[in-house]
Amino acid sequence: MKSNSEAYFDRAKELRQVLNKANHAYYVLDAPFIKDALYDSLYRELIELENKHPELITLDSPSQRIGGSPSKGFQTISHRIPLFSLDNAFNLDELNVWNNKISKLISQYSDQKSIEFVSELKIDGNAIALSYENGILTKGATRGDGENGEDITNNIRTISSIPLALKLQNPPKWLEVRGEAFIPNNIFQKINISRKEKGEELFANPRNACAGTLRQLDPKIVAKRNLDFFAYTIHFDENWIPEENDFKNIQGQWDSLQLLKNIGFKVNNNCKKNNSLEEINKYYIYWEKERQFLPYATDGVVIKVDELKMQQFLGNTKKSPRWAIALKYPAEETTTKLKQMVFQVGRTGAITPVAEFEPVLLAGTSVNRATLHNGKRLLELNIHEKDTIVVRKAGEIIPEVIRVMPELRVKKSKPIRMTNYCPECESVLIKENNSVITKCNNNKCPAILKGILRHWVSKNAMDIDGFGDKLILMLVDKKMVHSIADLYKLNINHLSNLNRLGMKSANKLVKAIQESKHKPWHKKLYGLGILHVGESNAKAIAKVFGNIEELRKASNVSPESIMQIYGIGQEIADSIKTWFSNEENCILIKELEEIKFSLSTDEDESLTTNNNLSNISNLDGLSFVLTGTFASYSRKEIQNIIEMAGGKVISTISKKTSYLIYGEKPGSKFKKAQALEIKMLTEIELEALLFNNHKYNQPNSK
Ligand code: NAD
Repeated sequence: MKSNSEAYFDRAKELRQVLNKANHAYYVLDAPFIKDALYDSLYRELIELENKHPELITLDSPSQRIGGSPSKGFQTISHRIPLFSLDNAFNLDELNVWNNKISKLISQYSDQKSIEFVSELKIDGNAIALSYENGILTKGATRGDGENGEDITNNIRTISSIPLALKLQNPPKWLEVRGEAFIPNNIFQKINISRKEKGEELFANPRNACAGTLRQLDPKIVAKRNLDFFAYTIHFDENWIPEENDFKNIQGQWDSLQLLKNIGFKVNNNCKKNNSLEEINKYYIYWEKERQFLPYATDGVVIKVDELKMQQFLGNTKKSPRWAIALKYPAEETTTKLKQMVFQVGRTGAITPVAEFEPVLLAGTSVNRATLHNGKRLLELNIHEKDTIVVRKAGEIIPEVIRVMPELRVKKSKPIRMTNYCPECESVLIKENNSVITKCNNNKCPAILKGILRHWVSKNAMDIDGFGDKLILMLVDKKMVHSIADLYKLNINHLSNLNRLGMKSANKLVKAIQESKHKPWHKKLYGLGILHVGESNAKAIAKVFGNIEELRKASNVSPESIMQIYGIGQEIADSIKTWFSNEENCILIKELEEIKFSLSTDEDESLTTNNNLSNISNLDGLSFVLTGTFASYSRKEIQNIIEMAGGKVISTISKKTSYLIYGEKPGSKFKKAQALEIKMLTEIELEALLFNNHKYNQPNSK
């Protein structure tokens, strides 16, 4: 058994090896083998280890150097002033920590209470340094290792947004401009399409394409690639006395940007002066959404202390200035370490391997578990105990493990395979023919019952307020509930005797359970948890089959009558039939009948009249996609109304979508709908459509 310090030593060594290899691939070969977000999370792990155990820092640690060494194919240029990287923050808390740190330092420098900042977009390109002698471009260099860069002057001359001569009456002897060379998104796409056609390796992202282009040995190729440049830093000869018209006195970063514009550079106009973290926060959040509409890639925002004197006072660390920080956008993919694999039993008995790992921030939320879906996926991933894994969570999507990093595997760790026994009732698991799903087929398995109850009380089904997971576990484990019907037999006495549930809460809960009897029929149908019968399908089915008996008969005698419903196919019809053929479900229907729990439309009648929706248009067969925020309705309300009118709300746009309903700040679906020429309606136009204004009654003719 290794001691802790040996384990840290080994981990730091492995991280250094992987990161140095990644640096070489990224900076020298322009061909990264891992995504930036993964590089960042491994790098942060190394920094945390080195901060806690400084004895682990070695000279070859990537924490001790900027970027990569200049490549041999070019002459090197020593930078007059080192060209630093930037420290990173990955969320607003980390930005706060940075702000506190610099505010403390600045309090030693001046009494000034607030600091002025300049926020800029972090352009995802490559830093370059341009030297002008007497106003004429003489040298252009990459950042390289911060001290020495590659001489790429000939290539830089081909970038049309870089002036070859400055717009100055009386230029200084020397002047240096730093900024970001980048490839606009449309050009990047074109380059990759053409590389694909020629069978060449594709560039991983616009930044790599730009780096690869800047280091082309043939400037003619560079010229064809239409690189662009945004300037953000200027340094010049201190002895220079500019003429009055040249520019005013430069006090800070904001003035520098104005000066850069005046002398002929392209400056990104989306920069902003802020003097509070709240304002920076707004800027950051605004650009997180808007950046998708920019014609170039950004991976965050850069926050800079405005005043030059303050910048000088704060100075630099080995790698980066203390007065600036890059606030990166949340990664949708990151690395973490597996703690254990647990096997979860769902309400259908299907077993899902779930990885439990060290908590990480993904797409802005903390995540510590992710599903691996099934045993096949577990095998494909070949995940071992304590592996370093890559997890992803894109937008609203449930987190998932997408791969492991065998290069960081702990020696002699064992592979993890699917369990053969139900983790709850220990029955032997069954693998269904031609299916990747492994199931517990024990009808009495407490884990299946827990899953069924969880689904029944959930928000979109019976929505029983106060019925949490803990209570479900207690009721099943104490054998007080054996089916959905048993919930309706619970009284205050039963519930108040349970752990920490007082009389008052028990009373409230019993009331909520009993009230759920009056939920609409389609919610009850959804709550029964028939495989593939989601909310929308349940609504559509409930409209045609007014009660459970009609549905049962149809599933047996005329499944085609179910399949005639818009959106329902063979798979769902089969699944309904299978549900009714399960003896436990027949017992459940009987039990519910006995306690006078209606599985029919009887309870629904008040709904349409209450909502005054009797004159609503018929939207049968139409599909709708929603995007943005609506002024008068929540999304859920819009969905309910559309579905009541017979329409279907779906989440992704395709050529077949009938309408896009858009509100304030629509997302990417808006552009997609435009591209596919889908008819688009505001909420007011939707109202008109619903309440029989025929002007809007013509959806896509596709
Ligand atoms: P960085 O990209 O995190 O930030 C610093 C850079 O931001 C500056 O050098 C500058 O080029 C750029 N920048 C863009 N807009 C700017 C603005 N308005 N003001 C100032 N600077 C601006 O740091 P880095 O040192 O250039 O690169 C490190 C990053 O590169 C890592 O965090 C990682 O994401 C990526 N990387 C990836 C791999 C890989 O294998 N995928 C390997 C090495 C590095």
